[in-house]
Amino acid sequence: MRESLEPQNDPWKDKLTSDQYFVCRMKGTEPPFTGIYHDSKEKGVYNCLCCGAKLFSSDTKFDSGTGWPSFWESISDNVTTKEDTSHGMLRVEALCKNCGAHLGHVFDDGPNPTGLRYCINSVSLKLEK
Ligand SMILES: [Zn+2]
Repeated sequence: MRESLEPQNDPWKDKLTSDQYFVCRMKGTEPPFTGIYHDSKEKGVYNCLCCGAKLFSSDTKFDSGTGWPSFWESISDNVTTKEDTSHGMLRVEALCKNCGAHLGHVFDDGPNPTGLRYCINSVSLKLEK
């Protein structure tokens, strides 16, 4: 399936900044170490920027050293995954199940107990303290 690059009349365009739109709706990636949450230790729940769904708890956040906020588990099943073959790589994309926002990617080199690493763009998230 081919997705058009610049959807016409996309209502998200008016609601998001260009950086947010690029990541959440165009599946972009923010540069590492530039986001506001990559080294955040604050307690709370990380919600979807676009729709407010609860995605990750700060209790499952860990310092992966990658420059992106990393979690070893998502909240219940608010995060859905999909195979991503873009850029010549086979990766697993993480998306908000509720609104389809692109969040980041999931890798299987995370810590116990899940062994997963949700590598998420800060800009896709909003921390609710
Ligand atoms: Zn969402």
